[in-house]
Amino acid sequence: MYVTHLECPKCKSRFDYKKLVQLCEKCSSPLLVKYDIKKVKSAFFRAKLSARPYNLWRYKEFLPIENEKNIVSLGEVITPLLKLKNLGKTLGFKHLYLKDEGLNPGGSFKSRGAAVGVSKAKELGVKSFAMPTNGNAGAAWAIYAAKAGIEANIVMPKDAPLITRNECAVSGAKLYLVDGLISDAGKITAKAVQRYGIMDASTLKEPYRIEGKKTMGFEIAEQFGWKIPDVILYPTGGGVGLIGIYKALLELREIGIIDILPRLVAVQAQNCAPIVKAYENGQKESVFWENAKTVAFGITVPKALGDFLVLEAIYKTNGTAVSVSDEDILKYQLLLAGSEGLFICPEGAATAAAAHLLLQSRWIKPNEKVVLLNTGSGLKYPDTVNANSPILSVNDEIVI
Ligand SMILES: *Cc1c(COP(=O)(O)O)cnc(C)c1O
Ligand SMILES: [Zn+2]
Repeated sequence: MYVTHLECPKCKSRFDYKKLVQLCEKCSSPLLVKYDIKKVKSAFFRAKLSARPYNLWRYKEFLPIENEKNIVSLGEVITPLLKLKNLGKTLGFKHLYLKDEGLNPGGSFKSRGAAVGVSKAKELGVKSFAMPTNGNAGAAWAIYAAKAGIEANIVMPKDAPLITRNECAVSGAKLYLVDGLISDAGKITAKAVQRYGIMDASTLKEPYRIEGKKTMGFEIAEQFGWKIPDVILYPTGGGVGLIGIYKALLELREIGIIDILPRLVAVQAQNCAPIVKAYENGQKESVFWENAKTVAFGITVPKALGDFLVLEAIYKTNGTAVSVSDEDILKYQLLLAGSEGLFICPEGAATAAAAHLLLQSRWIKPNEKVVLLNTGSGLKYPDTVNANSPILSVNDEIVI
């Protein structure tokens, strides 16, 4: 393992990676994991990637696990990068791709953060953690915790997708529902963490889930033969996915595998768009979004702890931030399924809607390579679709 320390991106304080550290003890910022880049570089170039397991652990030089025995695995996969030929043609893109994170354990990309986060928690001797969630993160941490033998305490808005509740319950997590938003669940978690001295697994309050989520960036780079696409669109809630992809690309640039970065686009829903608003105002941090509500539940985050890191990733890559309506989200969800056979989640559909907007405004050129991130399976959100089928009696015939 090549981790050297944990570093605060705000005040640059350094912390010992051998201890469980949550936020920066000086300024309360999230912390980032830092590696000995020279050592990583020589090991990575010597490595035969093709001989490695076809999952996120193949990038082990850039992962924070000291002893491989601590790896908690549920059969992670390299998720497919699909060329959307039909949809691309309909919308006017020559090279439109979708990375389908719905095939991860638990049906969302949250399992990447949980795989690395729970493995590292195990390595650090954690016995119990608590976390607030909009559903998928709690479910992912609950299933990995079950395998690791760690106690999971999950606090979730009562409106979160039912399936994510069931995933927590079936895997033995202690689940609490709150009549409020993820920000309210966060307050309840913080009190429990303080009172019982357990690990706080809230988004970005522990430094290791970013390390898991960043593997999406490595995979995209490798799947394109280390030739980076022009634009990557990401449905942004807490922003860890985007921060992670940015971190991965910076690390690959540092070891000299890539040189140019893609433009990163944060996509949000019109009724919860704090990052978009901050971007439009040229700000470095966002303001709490009142009365947040969208069908894309996973991106209902009124104020992200790592907002400044998301905005930095956008500004530094000449990216942008766009919001789309719930109506469009559902429309593009149908379009993806009907033209490509992909039942994607509403969050993922938001990136398709945003890409189309950006193509129409010419921010994206028709011949650019564009990657949509579908962060989860549509199967987790059955109620976003209305089947409306006629009901037949046994002797009826169908007219085609
Ligand atoms: C959590 C989640 C997101 C948002 O991811 P962040 O990394 O928190 O920005 C997007 N889509 C789905 C399906 C999610 O569960
Ligand atoms: Zn700090």
